[in-house]
Parts: sequence; C-alpha cells; structure tokens
Amino acid sequence: MQLGWALIRDVLCAAGDLTESEFGQVYLKHSDLGETTFEALQRQAHAGGVLTLESVDALFRNLLAAKGPRNKQPFLASAIGQCSPLEGKFLVKILTGDLRIGLKEGLVEDAIAQAFSVSLDQVKTANLLLGHVGETASLARAGQLTAVTLIPFRPIKYMLASPEPTAADIWQRVLEWHDGGKARAESASLGLKVATTAPTVWIEDKYDGIRAQMHKVGDVVSIYSRDLKDITHTFQEMADAARKLPEDFIIDGEIVAMRGRQALPYSELQRRLGRKEGDLFLNEQIPAQFVAFDLLWLTGESFMNHPLRTRRQLLEKLSPDAFRLAQITPAASGEDIEAAFVAARARGNEGLMIKDPQSFYTPGRRGLAWLKLKKAFATLDCVVVGAEYGHGKRKDVLSDYTFAVRDEPSGELKVIGKAYTGLTDAEIARLTQHFLKHTLHQTGRYHLVQPDTVLEIAFDLLQASTRHSSGLAMRFPRIVRIREDKTPAEIDTLATAWRIARSAQEASLEQV
Ligand code: AMP
Repeated sequence: MQLGWALIRDVLCAAGDLTESEFGQVYLKHSDLGETTFEALQRQAHAGGVLTLESVDALFRNLLAAKGPRNKQPFLASAIGQCSPLEGKFLVKILTGDLRIGLKEGLVEDAIAQAFSVSLDQVKTANLLLGHVGETASLARAGQLTAVTLIPFRPIKYMLASPEPTAADIWQRVLEWHDGGKARAESASLGLKVATTAPTVWIEDKYDGIRAQMHKVGDVVSIYSRDLKDITHTFQEMADAARKLPEDFIIDGEIVAMRGRQALPYSELQRRLGRKEGDLFLNEQIPAQFVAFDLLWLTGESFMNHPLRTRRQLLEKLSPDAFRLAQITPAASGEDIEAAFVAARARGNEGLMIKDPQSFYTPGRRGLAWLKLKKAFATLDCVVVGAEYGHGKRKDVLSDYTFAVRDEPSGELKVIGKAYTGLTDAEIARLTQHFLKHTLHQTGRYHLVQPDTVLEIAFDLLQASTRHSSGLAMRFPRIVRIREDKTPAEIDTLATAWRIARSAQEASLEQV
C-alpha cells in the first residue's frame, strides 16, 4: 500500500483529535501502532461496527490505486473515521503488516493443514517454496499443494545461518548436531565403548557482499537479491557469462567486489549498487564476481532435499568460467576452525561459514546446519528505535542511536544499547534526513523513530544489566555498518543475545 507512518499518524491525529506530541506520548506507551489507534479512537465517539470484508477490500484497492500520500490519505481517513476502536486497531495492524497477536506463521501452517486435511509437512514445504502463507492456503484449498515445486524464475527464500561467538562454540554445536556425537554421549553415559569417527564439517569463507540466487534456463538468466528482487541489470556481465553455459540451473551464492583473488570491502560493492544501469565503466572500476556455494536445481530437477555434499558435486560440474566457486576446507576440530578463520580474515573476508555436508537446503530457516563465525568480536543486527543529536561537530545531526533486538515470543522490541561511533559523516547525514522524516515523537534532543533501519553492532562484551529493557547491556558498542539488505524482521533475537552473553560469561569463568 505504501502508506508511510507519517500518513497514518496524521490520519489518527485527526480522528482522535490529538496533537502530534500527544500522539507520540500514546505511541510511547504502547510501541505499537495498532494499540495506539485503539486508544486514539477511544477518545472520540465513533459509530463503529461497519467494516465488512467487502468494504476493507474496496479500501485496499483504492489505497493501492491512489498515487502518493496526498491521494491515499482521504481513503484511509474516511475508513478510520467509520471504525470502532477495535476495528481501527486491527485495520492498522494489517496495513502495517505487524499483527503481533501471537499468531506465528507455524500456527497458521498448522491451521491450513487442519482446515484442508493435508499433511503439515506438505504445507510447510509449499510455504517455504512460495514464501507466501496466503498463497499456500489458496493452493491447499484447491488441492494443489503437491504441484508446488522449485521452478526457475520464482526465487525462493534463502537458507540462513546462526551466529556463534567463537570457534570453540561452533565446535560444540557441531558435536551436538552430529548424530554420532549424540550416540557417543549416550553410549559413554552407559559405560559402553564405541568406535566413532570424529565429525567433519565444511568451512567456507564468509564473503562480504550481497546474497544472490541465479536462475538460468536456455538464454534467460535472472539474478535475485536477498529480498528476492530482480537485480540482473546491475550485474549484467554475470548474467551474460552464465548465459553461455550449456546447463540450466538455480544456484545460490554471494556477489562480491573482488580484484583478482582479493576481496574488496563491501562499501565498494555498495557504490556499484547505487549506480544506474548501463554504466559501461563500472565493471572495470568495481569488478564483482558471483561466488557460488550451492546448487538448488539442475536441468528440471530440484536438489534441495539432497545432502550438501551432492549439491556441491553437481555445482562443481558446471563449467567454472561464469562464476567462482566458494572454496571448501574440511575441519575436524575447533582449532581447525580457528586457523581457517584467521586465514579468511587475511584474505579480506568477513569470517567463516561452517556447514554440515549431510544437510538439506532449508529455505528461509535459520537452522543449525549452517553456522557463521564473523569477527574476533561478536556482532548483533539491531533495529534503531531512537536517534539523538550528537555533540561538538555533530550537534546538528542525529548521530547517537538507540537500538533494539526482538523478543521472539512476543515480537516486542527490547532496547539493548546505544552507539555513536562507526559511521561516516555522509552516512550520518543520510540517516539524519531519514530519521527526521520518520520521527514518531521528539523529547528534547531525542527522537523516537520508526523502527525501520537495521544496524550491525559490534561490542566487546554483553552483560546482564537493568539499564535497558532487554535486561542486557553492551560494553563498547560500535556500529559496523548499516544493513540496507536487512529488514527489521531479520534482526537478531533476544535469545541469541542471551546466548552470546552466557557463553562469554562461561569463557571468562574458565579463564579464572
Ligand atoms: P549475515 O548476513 O551476517 O546474517 O550472514 C549470513 C550471510 O552471509 C548470508 O546470507 C550470505 O549473504 C553471506 N555469505 C557469505 N559467504 C557465504 C557462504 N560461503 N555461504 C553462505 N552464506 C554466505
């Protein structure tokens, strides 16, 4: 619908007879636009009870068709003006895509399976492939779930990795997910001797670029970004090279700025992302490569439910001229991982990805089959909830940021820290413009902002603390970068933050 928060705020201020500042106070109380709507509408006498599916459908169509906030506003204002507080609450929740009624996607999948008497497995698989639970429900009703397969030019969600703070933590996880490890532990507890082989994992460099899927059939090649948008035009030279290959395929990889074998910083790639298509000199100025690490589909057949080992073998058989292959190093201990980490950093990469060669490709899930080790220090992806004017030369820009992680069961954002170092003046200037436009409420120098900007935050230590609502605080937090590629839905969870805090605490106890 492309309804900005400012538009919704203006409509609610008018409907509830609130000033912007009063609106901000109400929002602060709830941190939820739906609840804010409820309270705003309660302040006025409203008829209510008039919304029907048809009228909401008509509203959505009108909002979609109207171009620009000025044209959209009258439609929303008229609908909100007729809503009861409860109707308004859910209308706004649906419009902002933030229901927060504790109904997780898994529960919706359960409901679809029950409603249409199909197996939950089928529903889950289809939903992962379609990336759309609504469409999954429609197909389940039509009895067409089994027809859903991976098909070229319909990008699917990416398999994700879980972060671990140290090589030792990674190895601990590996032992946990290795079946032999479990069997060993059980046998040992029974006093049995078992001959076991140590688990082996695959290590790849963690390239610092953008995640991409390349789909190729015949002459047609499309490259998709992490958010499944078509970005072929930005990387035309990669598509041209792939077009020459004889096979048809879908591969998963990372587009990296690279000169020879040396990875260039992410900021180089970002320069290229910002340019218009058809800039002839860019390929030379900022050479980029598609580094492939997975194969999902080959000439008519999906390989997602085959082990990574098989997928990799098939990937290696594709002609290597069109893209580069991520290098794999086997590792059989925490020490191997630590050594590989140091080498990867020396090559200019961000860290390591550790993968289980037996694992299937599970789209959209942050499983434990892929682990990531990023920095000598840990980082968390957080969303900015507040921005404050700085000091000295930064007194006129919003340079100090308060950020939060997500508490998974409730979906609430919990503040975990504040940082003001790490960004360039140009980035701060850009964020200032953005936050000024997306301020929900201002108290003195502090702007409560719409939580839409994701920052990757590094820190030395994460400790229990009553300072912030998360119950945790960071020591020496600093901003690593703005994560343009991530949405607030993808930020780290409070549970992950606690895991890092606990493991740091255990490590320091061991040192004592
Ligand atoms: P992060 O973006 O920090 O959550 O880390 C996960 C991302 O690392 C993935 O989504 C990929 O974009 C990127 N990545 C870089 N190298 C690899 C690799 N070898 N295997 C998988 N993902 C990788």
